[in-house]
Amino acid sequence: MITGAASGIGREAAVLFAAEGACVVAVDVDEKNGRESVATIERAGGKAIFVKADVSKSDDCREMVAAAERTYGRLNVLFNNAGIMLGADDDAVATAEDVWERTMAVNARGVFLGCKHGIPALRRAGGGSIINTASFVAVLGAATPQIAYTASKGAVLAMTRELAVIHARENIRVNALCPGPLRTELLMKFLDTDEKKQRRLVHVPMGRFGESKEMAQAALFLASDESSYTTGATFLADGGITAAYVTPL
Ligand code: NAD
Repeated sequence: MITGAASGIGREAAVLFAAEGACVVAVDVDEKNGRESVATIERAGGKAIFVKADVSKSDDCREMVAAAERTYGRLNVLFNNAGIMLGADDDAVATAEDVWERTMAVNARGVFLGCKHGIPALRRAGGGSIINTASFVAVLGAATPQIAYTASKGAVLAMTRELAVIHARENIRVNALCPGPLRTELLMKFLDTDEKKQRRLVHVPMGRFGESKEMAQAALFLASDESSYTTGATFLADGGITAAYVTPL
């Protein structure tokens, strides 16, 4: 099950996981593009269903998990990937409280609710893998202010570590995928001038934005048995941005 599967990382992951033989549950609030992700998978001969759900709502999360079990019998992988970065997200002084609330509701509560309803299903399946999409901004201070987003991703990273420790003996692995800055709609809309883009790129040793496909490959590793001894990891796929600027803890 992949949330945020209508676009960006989620769509690429849905297509890649299906190509690897997974039965995919593509979850999103965006029905049109979510169904397009499913159609792309089906055209390539893969298996997928679309479930419309808002990950900030508990009932929706309960239903998406139920749909996965109803359709495919069990849930093995939960990729809590849906997230938002609002244009009005700024520094602490300028950011409106409703921007904070909306961002935390989707990015932090969405991951919590995915786990709340998904973990019982993973238990029923005998274990599995949870991947939570955090961000490099959870481990360093971003040069462009986005206080609500940064706080929400810090919450995802901290939550991931606790989940990993608590559920390790249940054969449930939990890792945080921390992408660097990507050439996706989400970030390009936010860094909407060349100056803002350059300001971000100057910090990336590779000198380019990452691609959603590259994040899908990282998520595939974390989803698969190839990562069977990896849990609680801050899995950075960030073009080296944190290696250049963060002192290892
Ligand atoms: P995107 O905007 O292309 O895709 C996000 C998807 O999530 C969209 O399809 C959107 O409809 C969906 N979504 C939004 N709110 C939702 C909700 N309440 N319920 C269900 N679905 C919802 O963005 P992306 O770049 O693919 O981002 C995916 C994840 O990666 C996000 O968590 C984002 O914060 C994170 N991330 C992105 C970058 C980047 O540079 N783009 C960097 C680090 C982390």
